[in-house]
Amino acid sequence: MTDLRTRAVHAGRDDLTDLGLHAAPLDYSTTYPSRDSAAEARRIDEFAAGGHVSGIYGRIGNPTVERFERALAELEGFEHAVAFASGMSAVQRGKRHVVGVRSLYGSTDHLLTSGLLGTEVTWGAPEDAARAVREDTGRVFVETPANPALTELDIAALVERCGAVPVLVDNTFATPVLQCPGHHGARLVLHSATKFLGGHGDVMGGVVACDAEEAARLRDIRFATGAVLHPLAGYLLLRGLSTLPLRVTAASATAAVLAERLAQHPAVTAVHHPRIGGPLVAFEVAGDPHAVIGAVRVITPAVSLGSVDTLIQHPASLTHPVAAEHDREKAGITGRLIRLSAGLEDVEDLRHDLDQALKAC
Ligand code: PLP
Repeated sequence: MTDLRTRAVHAGRDDLTDLGLHAAPLDYSTTYPSRDSAAEARRIDEFAAGGHVSGIYGRIGNPTVERFERALAELEGFEHAVAFASGMSAVQRGKRHVVGVRSLYGSTDHLLTSGLLGTEVTWGAPEDAARAVREDTGRVFVETPANPALTELDIAALVERCGAVPVLVDNTFATPVLQCPGHHGARLVLHSATKFLGGHGDVMGGVVACDAEEAARLRDIRFATGAVLHPLAGYLLLRGLSTLPLRVTAASATAAVLAERLAQHPAVTAVHHPRIGGPLVAFEVAGDPHAVIGAVRVITPAVSLGSVDTLIQHPASLTHPVAAEHDREKAGITGRLIRLSAGLEDVEDLRHDLDQALKAC
């Protein structure tokens, strides 16, 4: 089974037929009773030593969430994945120092810059990342295509430059449908699962695909901080994965058409669409971007992305206001920039909606 569509449907579900089940079981337990207390003690020791155990307590692991973790790890081509309560809670530093390559999602930028996690960050261009590496650097943190101007970087070249320091790629925008950073040497792949993995705008989660060593560290952090994914979210995310390739492929085709049409529109001064494609389009308008966003009728004016409906928003004021103004401008996040995440509606309906909304500027 190598095709992504096949794996997306079956990953994390291999044992269901033997269990006599069709849908994945949803286990809400917060604790797991055992009459063998000595064995439980040994399992706790195993977890403390970095082992992967579950079925002791909800903060250590949950079988429904683990199905989603196994499935996502398989799709990204990793041995392990560790799920968190949100994309932001999945942003963990590894060691004290982080090298960051801008642009990143505004809250990630803020989290690293503010030092709220006890992090010290050095920002640099992809070419400078290796020079910024120190003894205590735990991660080189990048996003590609990057939020929101959809800039891309060469993951393999960055990994080569950074040598032994693990490169973490936020793959939220591309998803494993368009890009598997692990195939290019990235040691960790992060997702805001709230977006395309869930895919319906009704579940919040985060996940990091990685090797056993990084997974043990992340499970320990999750256990200590309590940033666990709720079992219902794990259930919905596993279900979302099964349609991920279909949704991302369809939305990407729509985005390509819209990008082309927008490029010809007199009120649009620039259009950004990633080289690898994908459902995201960013564009600059000649007039007031808020007027355009306020005028859409089919498209949903809302932050976030990756839902069945097309979403439109103004990055400079909504998703990236926490980044300093000169950093925003450098990353192409101008006041005239609008970001659109294509959904699954008919492309002509979307085009008409954009056409009539653009009259507002
Ligand atoms: N990474 C990217 C690229 C995002 O766009 C977002 C949220 O928009 C996050 C991380 C944070 O994810 P969450 O909102 O699930 O915490």
